[in-house]
Amino acid sequence: MPSAATLIRTPFVATHTHPTPTRFARTLLAALVLASPFLASPLSAQKTKQDVAAFLDGRFGQLSGVADQIWGWAEVGYMETKSSALLEKELEDAGFTVTRGVADIPTAFVASYGSGKPVIAVLGEYDALPGINQDSVPTRDPVEGKGSAHACGHNLLGTASLGAVIGVARWLKATGKSGTIRYYGTPAEEGGSGKVYMVRAGLFDDVDAVLTWHPGDRNNASPGKNLAVKSAKFRFHGIASHAAAAPDRGRSALDAVEAFDYMANMMREHVPQETRIHYVITSGGSAPNVVPDFAEVYYYVRHPDPEMVRSIFDRLVAAAEGAAKGTGTTMDYEVMGGSYSRLPIASLQEVVYDNLKQVGGVSWGAPEEKFAETIKKTLPAEPPLSSAAEIQPFEWEQTYASSDVGDVSWTVPTSTLGTATWVPGTAAHTWQAAAAAGTSVGDKGMLVAAKTLAFTAIDLFSDPSKVAAARAEFEKGRGPDFKYQPLLGDRKPPLEYRASVIKPGS
Ligand SMILES: [Zn+2]
Repeated sequence: MPSAATLIRTPFVATHTHPTPTRFARTLLAALVLASPFLASPLSAQKTKQDVAAFLDGRFGQLSGVADQIWGWAEVGYMETKSSALLEKELEDAGFTVTRGVADIPTAFVASYGSGKPVIAVLGEYDALPGINQDSVPTRDPVEGKGSAHACGHNLLGTASLGAVIGVARWLKATGKSGTIRYYGTPAEEGGSGKVYMVRAGLFDDVDAVLTWHPGDRNNASPGKNLAVKSAKFRFHGIASHAAAAPDRGRSALDAVEAFDYMANMMREHVPQETRIHYVITSGGSAPNVVPDFAEVYYYVRHPDPEMVRSIFDRLVAAAEGAAKGTGTTMDYEVMGGSYSRLPIASLQEVVYDNLKQVGGVSWGAPEEKFAETIKKTLPAEPPLSSAAEIQPFEWEQTYASSDVGDVSWTVPTSTLGTATWVPGTAAHTWQAAAAAGTSVGDKGMLVAAKTLAFTAIDLFSDPSKVAAARAEFEKGRGPDFKYQPLLGDRKPPLEYRASVIKPGS
């Protein structure tokens, strides 16, 4: 197993070659990937985890090629046409049956292999972020003309899950075990709540356990909660008028937004500690001498408890109504997204953690070391680079972001995992994250995730008591009276939510 001691240290040399050696190698791999589908090699018996790990090691180049393609396209939410098509093709080539366009979302799909119980699902994401852009080099270098990037590493997320399910499918075939392995292609994680629509459509109803992971700057399988979220755009409608000559005839929609924001800011004193409320004014008029007849403000409310989010959101709506009344305007709002906080299943996390320890941390060679040492100069000193090779201790965590995995986790027992795909100290949604996700630094972290997910699925197929324990803990966690009601209500998938922001990836 790799350890800190196996890392090769090379002296830092300040260079900015273009393309880098890692990028060059990955471009070659990307060109090869479509020519060599996963099942082109003979099916050797893969009856143990070690066999599956060896299979994934042998396919590292192909997986890196898939990740590199998706990284290059950097398609944003609900516009991941090429990325989803590539993953679908790889799954079909590996013998999976693919159902495309599920839940009324063209880029959502479900791929299935095997039959019978248990049904184990692995989630794959592949959407990029708009408004950020970076080449796969360790210094700040935007790519000209490109308006999006994989700054959350979802190119790696979808691809590690691809490798894992193909490895498991081969293991199922070799061992003759009963069971179904599925890949859920889940678009628009970044603000589009893609998984919520897939949950709402009942696509997870017959699944026994869901495994997922996320790129990060450390290897971690601890149980914990994040935050539930509900977001909405509040729109105010007033009366336009000359702001100096006839202000009495105007009713300012911007006044309403400001009054609403003021009330929301006062509300912060009277909500539970862990609450997060944030907003941006997305429209506030266009000229000071025109009383704005339209203004819009976009709010997020977050809290660990989905029911608390619901109640604080209702208070915000009341404040918006009050602001409209007091300013002589009218108000309507559109819920944009919403997801539950994660329901942690400690017993399932223990299985993931044991397997992560078996797989070991990320093992860098000289090119990754050099890349990491260069990028580290732009990051905090802690944690040290050596932590990429280590596994974080198993302990309870409260984190303060949100994910649409939350709704899945209240529907099916769901585990999570993080691996060091970024240089330690890198935050999500940064150029440093986007850069690493486009190199072998990201690929090597992705390989750790693929193996850990595959090993975990193998344990669940092999030992029904682990699935039963997860189910029992899940039922207890939800409580007997739980009834799933999506925070985003009955709205349709906002397929165009990125259309005004950006054109599809280059
Ligand atoms: Zn993400």
